[in-house]
Amino acid sequence: MMRYGLHARLLTVIVGATLVSLLLVTLIMQRYGSMSEEVLDRSRSSMQTLVHDRLVAQGRATVERVAEAMVNPLYYFDLDAMGQVLATVREQPDVDYVLVYSPEGEILHDGSSDILVYGKTMDDPFATAAIGAEAVHVQANARILDVAAPIRLGGERLGGLRIGYSLATLQADESAASTGLKHSVDEISRRHLDWVMLQLVTLAILVMVVSFLGHRALVLPIRQLADAAREIERGNFDVDIPETGRSDEVGDLMRGFRRMGESIRRHDREVRTIAYSDALTGLSNRLAFREVLDDRMIESHGGERSLALLFADIDDFKRVNDTLGHDAGDEVLVQCAERVQQALDRSGSNAILARFGGDEFVILLEGDAAGGDLREAAAALAGVIVRELASPVTVQERQVFLGISVGITLYPDDASGATALMKNADIAMYQAKVAGKNCYRFYSRAMDLAVEQRIHLEQDLRGAWERGELSLVYQPVFEIAGNRLVGAEALLRWQHPRQGMVAPSVFIDVAEQSGLIETLGPQVLRAACADAVRWISAHGCYRDCFVSVNVSPRQLRTGDLDLQVEEALQASGLQPHQLHLELTETAVIADELRVGSVLGRLRAQGVKIWLDDFGTGFSGLSHLRRVPVDGVKIDRSFVADVLRDPDDLALTTAIIAMGHSLGMTVVAEGVESEGQFDLLRERGCDYAQGYWLGAPMPLDALIALSVT
Ligand code: C2E
Ligand code: MG
Ligand code: MG
Repeated sequence: MMRYGLHARLLTVIVGATLVSLLLVTLIMQRYGSMSEEVLDRSRSSMQTLVHDRLVAQGRATVERVAEAMVNPLYYFDLDAMGQVLATVREQPDVDYVLVYSPEGEILHDGSSDILVYGKTMDDPFATAAIGAEAVHVQANARILDVAAPIRLGGERLGGLRIGYSLATLQADESAASTGLKHSVDEISRRHLDWVMLQLVTLAILVMVVSFLGHRALVLPIRQLADAAREIERGNFDVDIPETGRSDEVGDLMRGFRRMGESIRRHDREVRTIAYSDALTGLSNRLAFREVLDDRMIESHGGERSLALLFADIDDFKRVNDTLGHDAGDEVLVQCAERVQQALDRSGSNAILARFGGDEFVILLEGDAAGGDLREAAAALAGVIVRELASPVTVQERQVFLGISVGITLYPDDASGATALMKNADIAMYQAKVAGKNCYRFYSRAMDLAVEQRIHLEQDLRGAWERGELSLVYQPVFEIAGNRLVGAEALLRWQHPRQGMVAPSVFIDVAEQSGLIETLGPQVLRAACADAVRWISAHGCYRDCFVSVNVSPRQLRTGDLDLQVEEALQASGLQPHQLHLELTETAVIADELRVGSVLGRLRAQGVKIWLDDFGTGFSGLSHLRRVPVDGVKIDRSFVADVLRDPDDLALTTAIIAMGHSLGMTVVAEGVESEGQFDLLRERGCDYAQGYWLGAPMPLDALIALSVT
């Protein structure tokens, strides 16, 4: 829409002023025109009066003089003498006629030689008045000025004289004079008009110049400022306000505006820095990252250039906070951020790193224009990050073992929107955790399904114990040397109402991740202790028989495991040394400090602690010295290949030797054949467990087995 702006206003004022002055000029011109008309009229009439009066005076004088000269010739009636005088009168210019007449009005002479009108009585309109005139008498009409005078001798009237002056010449002269006058008046007004026109043109030029100058000096700078203000309002703070050397108010305004623009820009930068960065690590935060991601997705022109989004979550970070305090946790985060950043820098990619809060980091990787394989690049980068975080972090002079799980998703392959992409990366990261942590996983559509299933499983698992869907089975543990049953491992089973049996590897993980294990764990513990009292009494091995219960890392972290155990023991009446707790190697070694105190208290009660799945973690044998445990369970993956793979045999042998040297009991899991059993016996392993010896079975079956 057109706007009634400053320039338009200025123009309106100028045009208005011009119109008013034009109007005034027109009025003046008109007035001037009528005035010159009037002047012309007046001068004409005064000229007429003047000429007329002079003619009358001249006529009078002539008539008086000639009447005087006619006295004698008339007295003597000398026509010749009359003729002589009158002829000279007639010759005078403008004299139309000259008549000498008798007192009765009969013409006696007209100045001609043959006097054709002699004796004729005058009958023209002036005649009567002329004949009767006592003194000089003047009469006039449009054509003729008639001057008459009586001719007297003494008191006697001899007759009269009339001279008629023609007014035609006079009028011709007069009109010639007024034409001349009119010409010069017209000439003057023409000159005047030219002058006025010149002034008008000058005025017009002046108006244009003023308008141009006004436009340049006021309108343009104000328009520039208005444009700049609009840009700033739109959020574009990088507008350029031209520098000016003007020393007037507009100059002040522009300089002020410029300074204001700069300060807004600076302020905006500061606000951005605060709003867009993570205070702890100085990395970009979620907000900043989200903007960058959106921008890159737009720039990718609907997916012409691909992107990779990496979601990295530090494994078991909560443990650091819980055990070493939040300051240490912050320090760990800073160190981790540095490591990841260094890994990115070394990779030479243009990756962008941000912290999403907590222990979550995200990395955006752009496919290069050369079309290199982004998937490969992302995998390589994730691999480097995982390796970097595998080495321990030193905090408060302590070594903390961490790990990082990375989920990777690709744009546009996996999703078309930023939100969906981030969700995918999160899902992939979660899958990396499920897959055992400290690794990376690419997103796949199947994961969506898996996540959905997990959510359903979690819902179904709530209250499953109360509904009687969960039960315990027991797998016998044999002493190898005496080949006798010494204990049983309690293993949880879930009979899902629709899906049937759900593998513990699946639902235990769900329970662990969702926290359900914190209620489920104590229930298992109580039930296992109660069951153990039953079968041990049936078996009749009151002193050295035991039940072995699995404890998940999360249960360990709650910190009141010793209280739960005490309660279960009291409720069942089981002896503390008859309860063995199986903890995973990673849970114990990675969290030495807190776990150490809980384990210390449990062991003080007399409860035995076993390290489950030993050999699968990355701790190495030397760590065994530092943790206070009573036994280790060699993971079934080593036992499975102990007959075929010399490495596994060597490791199994080493674990047995090492365990024994530290005074620990060594248990072999997953014994599926006699050959394995014999070999383990040969190597001096204490206990064995496996399908060959007995699969997990219900309590009744275990009791039956014990009795026979
Ligand atoms: P785990 O503690 O290592 O338990 C031993 C697993 O090995 C059991 O699997 C058992 O059925 C299996 N197994 C025993 N002998 C053999 C064999 O000869 N060959 C093979 N291939 N496997 C054998 P299950 O019952 O599926 O349990 C899997 C894991 O679930 C357990 O591993 C344990 O970590 C966890 N779990 C089971 N019950 C509980 C529980 O009540 N609480 C907690 N926290 N975890 C439990
Ligand atoms: Mg176990
Ligand atoms: Mg095991």
